Amino acid sequence: MITPFESPIFVTRPVFPDLADYTAQLTEIWDSKQLTNNGLQHKRLEGELAEYLAATHLKLFSNGTLALLLGLKALGLKGEVITTPFTFPATVQCLDWNQLTPVFCDIDPVTLNIDADKIESLISEQTSAILAVHVFGNPCEVEKIEKIADKHHLRVIYDGAHVFGTEVMGKPIHHYGDMTMYSFHATKLFNTVEGGALAFKEDHLAQKLDLLKNFGLLDAEQVVLSGLNAKMNELQAAMGREVLKVVDVEREKRHELKKIYEAHLNAIPGLRIVTSLEGAASSYQYFVIEVDQDQYGRTRDELFDALADYNVFPRKYFYPLCSDFSWYSRLESAQPEKLPVARKSVQQVLSMPFYGELSREAVEKICGILKELHVEKKEVLNYRK
Ligand SMILES: *Cc1c(COP(=O)(O)O)cnc(C)c1O
Repeated sequence: MITPFESPIFVTRPVFPDLADYTAQLTEIWDSKQLTNNGLQHKRLEGELAEYLAATHLKLFSNGTLALLLGLKALGLKGEVITTPFTFPATVQCLDWNQLTPVFCDIDPVTLNIDADKIESLISEQTSAILAVHVFGNPCEVEKIEKIADKHHLRVIYDGAHVFGTEVMGKPIHHYGDMTMYSFHATKLFNTVEGGALAFKEDHLAQKLDLLKNFGLLDAEQVVLSGLNAKMNELQAAMGREVLKVVDVEREKRHELKKIYEAHLNAIPGLRIVTSLEGAASSYQYFVIEVDQDQYGRTRDELFDALADYNVFPRKYFYPLCSDFSWYSRLESAQPEKLPVARKSVQQVLSMPFYGELSREAVEKICGILKELHVEKKEVLNYRK
């Protein structure tokens, strides 16, 4: 048996910038006497990110969830929103907090993103939008979704928590849809410790979002909207400005690790790498495999448990399905038989360790372990003879 790792290997590790550089930013903040409320660091990061991502408008928030929640609010949506059951709970919880009803659509078996071909049959009189997720950093079928939305006059919002800096057909990914949310949580490719942003095109939304994230305060004495507190503070923004300097290096390191995983895993029966659509780039947010019990000889859960003995701790993202949350049990679209692909995939996915500081040797060893754990079918074949 391959010897276990000495210390635990987790699915990810946050990107840390140079400490001396961050400290220099802190000194500036201390001198400025301003900690939050659209300070100098906030303004700079907003500008730097808009440029880096090539966004017409970009607004920062204290986290990705509040960005999405207030983005949906700013669009003034009503009724039903078609979305995916295979996502992080935040996606659908943002609908709940806006009194919007999710209508769950099954997913594509290759990308695990919302299946664009199944959206149209779910549209009703009540539908106001499509909320899709670019799962694991692989883009949705953005053009198909756009066509459906145009035909039925629906808004399109993307949860882009995993697609920082991704392009589709030569365009930044937020070019598609009315609005894209980015998450800058510590575990994301680009982080501000906690944080998030919205990228969008319509000018009128800019002021509305500024109001919504600051209690609807137009000035010291006028409250014009029912808002929230969702402001990014100066320490978060300074962190972001430093992480932005190293994010390309991080992406490049992950690109190299991905190649090692691919080279080894393609030779192991029953392990499928969850990939992008042909021609689409990936953000390298996660490296995810699907375990086919018949060919691999173990279920995903058995593999997960066995890996723990080697001190390897992947994650079952996104288990459980959002459609299985108790408060959706009455929804017709949440019934298990309506979501066969999602039900199958959610039992098979495993998000493997994937971060720049992970060594080539560690990835090779993890692949070796996956090979070692594969159960040959020889005995079964002999028996049949
Ligand atoms: C991380 C994540 C979120 C939530 O973002 P926060 O910044 O942590 O609030 C939402 N959706 C998806 C798909 C995520 O992975």
